[in-house]
Amino acid sequence: MERPLTQHIPLSGAALQLKEYEAVGGYSALRKVLQELTPKEVTEKVKDANLKGRGGAGFSTGMKWSFVPMNVTGPKYLIANADEMEPGTFKDRWLLEGNPHQLLEGMIIAAYAIQATQAFVFMRWAYKEAAQIMTRAIADAYAAGYLGKNILGKDFQLDMQLHTGVGRYMCGEETALLNSLEGKRATPRAKPPFPQVSGLFGKPTIVNNVETLSYIPHIMNKGGDWFKSLSYTADGGTKIYGVSGKVNKPGAWELPMGVTMRELLEEHAGGMKAGLRFRGVLPGGASTDFLTDAHLDVKMDFVGVAAAGSRLGTGTMVVLDDQTCPVGFVHNLEHFFAQESCGFCTPCREGLPWTEKILLALEQGKGTYADLEQLEIHTQLLGPGNTFCALAPGAMEPLQSALKYFREDFEQHIKDKKCPYAHH
Ligand code: NAD
Repeated sequence: MERPLTQHIPLSGAALQLKEYEAVGGYSALRKVLQELTPKEVTEKVKDANLKGRGGAGFSTGMKWSFVPMNVTGPKYLIANADEMEPGTFKDRWLLEGNPHQLLEGMIIAAYAIQATQAFVFMRWAYKEAAQIMTRAIADAYAAGYLGKNILGKDFQLDMQLHTGVGRYMCGEETALLNSLEGKRATPRAKPPFPQVSGLFGKPTIVNNVETLSYIPHIMNKGGDWFKSLSYTADGGTKIYGVSGKVNKPGAWELPMGVTMRELLEEHAGGMKAGLRFRGVLPGGASTDFLTDAHLDVKMDFVGVAAAGSRLGTGTMVVLDDQTCPVGFVHNLEHFFAQESCGFCTPCREGLPWTEKILLALEQGKGTYADLEQLEIHTQLLGPGNTFCALAPGAMEPLQSALKYFREDFEQHIKDKKCPYAHH
């Protein structure tokens, strides 16, 4: 199988510099696009590729671009969402630090497709090394004529800026990101209107994930059918999967979309560490439902994981082993979500700290059966449709599935009045 992204990343881990990127065909897709394709044709090609957004939601990228009204006057914006903060997720960092020009080329092509004149890389505050690498890459791209006025001699101009976030999970939500970029408090906006129509400063804006944009140059060079052929399933292309937890070889790998969970865990992650048994996995970062060993043959694409009762999310799996307390595991996650709630809507602001408090009591052997009922009620109250954005519903996913699959562990804490895993 061809590996469109990883083949160009030096094993040393050093970022690919402009000259090295050009030497392996870098910026040839941009050249081709500006010479041969209209903006609409670029969007059609992305639609043909069936590229689905890799930030976690899996929305069709080509469809998203096609919603931008092309006949309006005034600026349009393109934003790479590099505010990667989903627990267990480190795939975009790998791309940012390894191949910054691949992202920039994808962004310039995306900006051309929607005729944006200003682009931003909105990067997680903690990604210091990636920010340095991106700063240099942007300067090099300007110097080489890939950014600025009359790009590659064509009547197309684009300015690019790196903007580092403030270290809050909320800023990765696209409308909170827009508020943050405008210098406002990072709370989400009501959708609709979607950013494609009314985004940054009320202007048409596309926000795409780093991984999503990094595929664009390859799709332009080799076409939608080629991209689709890389996948085992109907969701197009490859995907950067990751595994963390007590496995032998935690890491990230670019693999055909639809690889099974078993292959990921056993072949790529090298199986569980000696003496430990697999109990469950969050398939796509923390805000997804647990799956168990009954799901090992699930194909890891957006459709397959949803059919199994969870979500592909970011495709970076967090493994739970048999010597880690599931109650403590979920408590740790809910602590994170409670801390990261922006406080804007009541169910999330009040419900998450309460959930966390109940889980702490249970973990310490001070919980009751009524607490379990309260947790069940919270999974509904904070669920989809009851909050302003996806943060609290996402936070309820690991909890509701832990209550389903690991209920005996919760009950054991109540019966024993202590954590059965405390000796580990
Ligand atoms: P969403 O489904 O609301 O939106 C996804 C994208 O599709 C957005 O760009 C949105 O504008 C667009 N979209 C959706 N419906 C549309 C419509 N009807 N018309 C036009 N555009 C539409 O999801 P979301 O709230 O943006 O994201 C939630 C996801 O984020 C979760 O799946 C979660 O896994 C993921 N997530 C990722 C990270 C990370 O660090 N990568 C962090 C937290 C959450």
